[in-house]
Amino acid sequence: MAHVAVVGSFNLDHVWRVATLPPPGATLAGDYACGPGGKGFNQAVAARRAGAMVRFVCALGADAAAQQAHALCDDEGIDLRACTTQAPTGTAGIFVDGEGRNCIVIGPGANAALTPDFVAEALHGLTQGDVLVAQLESPLPAVAHALACARAAGATTLLNPAPANVAIDATLLDQADLLTPNETEFAALLARHVGERIAADHVATLDQGRLHALCRALAPQATVVVTLGASGCFVSHPESALRGDRHACYRVPAEPAQAVDTTGAGDAFSGALAAALALCPAQPFEEHVRFAGRYAARSTEHPGAALAMPRLVVGG
Ligand code: AMP
Repeated sequence: MAHVAVVGSFNLDHVWRVATLPPPGATLAGDYACGPGGKGFNQAVAARRAGAMVRFVCALGADAAAQQAHALCDDEGIDLRACTTQAPTGTAGIFVDGEGRNCIVIGPGANAALTPDFVAEALHGLTQGDVLVAQLESPLPAVAHALACARAAGATTLLNPAPANVAIDATLLDQADLLTPNETEFAALLARHVGERIAADHVATLDQGRLHALCRALAPQATVVVTLGASGCFVSHPESALRGDRHACYRVPAEPAQAVDTTGAGDAFSGALAAALALCPAQPFEEHVRFAGRYAARSTEHPGAALAMPRLVVGG
């Protein structure tokens, strides 16, 4: 069976639920909870709970949070390939308001120690039909090497270019078969790589032709899926890679959801999309996107990140 390999971050998330997100200078009280997260781990759990065999490549500290990561991966049935460093395991401070919106500060810690050499070793055995997933919470040389190793092995590469504030060069985008930015990440990539300044909250209002042209200018070789929160997503294929779809571009509406916490919705989407690609490669891409949207919608109905991933299996 094809595998999903996720290269990325593990963080311990410290989450405060507050009525409104704190403005500068404010001190607020909120309900506190602590749980596992990190874009890499969230996506690994999503892919696993969507039914795929998953390998998760990351860097951890030598501390209690690292032990928690090992135990969680054992419980989930995720093949953990972690290098251990003296830096503390990564952390994130997350505020979630009454409408499910969030703001996040990351302390990368051990995640910053992930090296290209370790990634190459950990990805050994990756093969055609497998799907490699990476994000931008890990050092960019390690991310670039992960994509290059996967390409060399004939695997499909999915880059979730998140978070948005990381400046990446075009060679990284060139290594991706699939890109899954949200509106903020898409706007940041357009500003840097296409010279187009479009406000993030304006992206969902653009017409299909314009969105398609922007995606093609950004990553001519890649299928781009721009996720649009409660508005669903937009898919843009290069003509050379329609992936079983009849149309080069189209919108897919979101599944209705009683959202209580959208933290990790994008991770749910990318992880589930990777699982669908690995498990049902012959299906039209639009089916994979619909599954990923359904999966992500369910993830918003529970608080937390990794542990909010639903057990909703591809084709089930
Ligand atoms: P985002 O990262 O916010 O763009 O969300 C990723 C994906 O999660 C979207 O493309 C939707 O499929 C799904 N999603 C996010 N927020 C909601 C919501 N409020 N209701 C239903 N689906 C959502």
